[in-house]
Amino acid sequence: MKARLRAVERVVKKWRTVLLIDSKWDVAVGAAIDKEDPNTIASIDLDYGSYWNAEITVYPKLIDNTEYFKENLDAAVIHELLHLVMWPLTSFAVNLAGNDSEREVNKLDDQIVKQLEKVFCGRKKKKKVVG
Ligand SMILES: [Zn+2]
Repeated sequence: MKARLRAVERVVKKWRTVLLIDSKWDVAVGAAIDKEDPNTIASIDLDYGSYWNAEITVYPKLIDNTEYFKENLDAAVIHELLHLVMWPLTSFAVNLAGNDSEREVNKLDDQIVKQLEKVFCGRKKKKKVVG
């Protein structure tokens, strides 16, 4: 587990450099050991008090399977870091549109992030690995 988290931290560091997310941002890495969610491999929590603090959480689906981990780690990290970059605009849109529209704004945010993720990862389809 610790080795996997260190690997995630190294990949976060690599992509922070590429995405120009400099040292102003404090991006921690953690694991959601007991949160089984078949649809989630990683997430990012942004500190609403400070845009500059965030934590990327990796889920068992990503870190429990070596092959899946190798295949999907870069894309997962890029995806979550792009949510960080998008956050000021998304936050502003939620405030403007109201809480009733938060789900719709977040859906659009994710759509844009997935498109930008392809820019960095190419168009290859993620390999599905069960287990
Ligand atoms: Zn997303």
